Amino acid sequence: MKELTHYIGGEHVKGTSGRFADVMNPATGEVQAKVPLASEAEVAKAVEIAAKAQPAWAATNPQRRARVLMKLVNLLNRDMDKLAEALSREHGKTLPDAAGDVQRGLEVVEYCIGAPQMLKGEFTDSAGPGIDMYSMRQPLGVTAGITPFNFPAMIPMWMFAPAIACGNAFILKPSERDPSVPLMLAELAEEAGLPKGILQVVNGDKVAVDAILHDPVIQSIGFVGSTPIAQYIYSTGCANGKRVQCFGGAKNHMIIMPDADMDQAADALVGAGYGAAGERCMAISVAVPVGDKTADALIEKLVPRIEKLKVGPYTGGKDVDYGPVVTAAAKANIERLVQSGVDQGAKLVVDGRGFKLQGYEDGFFVGPHLFDNVTPDMDIYKHEIFGPVLSTVRAKTYEEALGLAMDHEYGNGTAIFTRDGDTARDFAARINIGMVGINVPIPVPLAYHTFGGWKKSVFGDLNQHGPDAFKFYTRTKTVTARWPSGLKEGGEFHFKPMD
Ligand code: NAD
Repeated sequence: MKELTHYIGGEHVKGTSGRFADVMNPATGEVQAKVPLASEAEVAKAVEIAAKAQPAWAATNPQRRARVLMKLVNLLNRDMDKLAEALSREHGKTLPDAAGDVQRGLEVVEYCIGAPQMLKGEFTDSAGPGIDMYSMRQPLGVTAGITPFNFPAMIPMWMFAPAIACGNAFILKPSERDPSVPLMLAELAEEAGLPKGILQVVNGDKVAVDAILHDPVIQSIGFVGSTPIAQYIYSTGCANGKRVQCFGGAKNHMIIMPDADMDQAADALVGAGYGAAGERCMAISVAVPVGDKTADALIEKLVPRIEKLKVGPYTGGKDVDYGPVVTAAAKANIERLVQSGVDQGAKLVVDGRGFKLQGYEDGFFVGPHLFDNVTPDMDIYKHEIFGPVLSTVRAKTYEEALGLAMDHEYGNGTAIFTRDGDTARDFAARINIGMVGINVPIPVPLAYHTFGGWKKSVFGDLNQHGPDAFKFYTRTKTVTARWPSGLKEGGEFHFKPMD
């Protein structure tokens, strides 16, 4: 059995805690590797190494630091296929999806090459007699990130690229479900010239997370994952005086107005609802057609498209639309929620229950499901399912549809499909959700904008990537400097024009 490692101090280091988690192949249901679960002492070792390495990295000029990221971009492109394959093998998503995962992370590395521009600071000449005032952005020191299983390449890069570009050391605690790609990323960063100890990977579970939360040297924590854990990490990290940003779960609504292009809306819903088996925090899990006529037309368009979806392993060729879900527990949870939908009176229009794939009977495959007549009191509406299950809630009016999305406790992403600019503009202005698509089903902002939801989808006040990342990974220091030679007798400013 393959035994994975940690990546500490520039070395692959075997786990010493004696605790391991199984890394599954979701397509076959087999255990393919063991990942070590770090002890407090192993986290402390990584922190000690990071704290020693960080000052020299912070003193390296920003442009040299940026050059490391520039090389990393080249290496990521060089190894794209290898990374995608390793990612698919542990996560289960298709190869194009896995390459997309790497690509969206790479784009943030690319954006962070501009760090010297972002870190320039501010200067006020002659703020008083002989006085200059300047603000600079300095790194925090040792920073850490805890990431989810569903984007094992992208989300680590969203965190470590700005962290190291700003001169910090970064300790990554990736998901124990798919830890291989994060380890490969740390190796690549070193190949790109990153000094040892600046980017380390400590594999683990709650024990490692708690060690990070309570370590006095770690200055900041980034978290992406489910809302209950986000809440726990935010409150504990803040109580321990750390800077914390946590991104949680989602229930993304897509509103379909009667004037929408119904083919376009149906295509968008199939991609956004079932792509990556629905295991995306920006997946659309609720369709809200406005008016029964719209709902009927939409369902009619959706059903054949959903029934055509090909579910299979990532090795199954180009035609596979989505792969298995990540674990047997995830599959069981989806099945439990689907059953609750049936029991609570929703109409199961496409029934993916009992789906089996020949040759992969033990894999964690879930067939596609489409519910109609879902109401807000049902569990399938209230909870994040994180699977290939789309719920349709029929609204009578635009106001009712808007109200549904606004009243839901999550506020990550949303979309509206309409041809009417007035309605679209009103929606974008009033909705209390962080990322909004207009005829775009998955409105993930590009690297130079920021990513983040509202309500229970986020805890903390700065978003991921974009300009916010440079704020999160630095502190401002403002210097007021006075030089006596700038003063003449009587305290007036002595200005010597150049001739
Ligand atoms: P998760 O919350 O189970 O795990 C996330 C991380 O927290 C992992 O590293 C895990 O090891 C750690 N963890 C798990 N239980 C813990 C505990 N009790 N104490 C301390 N740490 C713990 O999430 P997941 O299943 O890996 O990812 C899916 C979730 O992530 C979904 O809810 C999804 O919506 C969310 N997500 C959100 C965003 C976003 O940007 N808002 C992006 C991607 C995923």
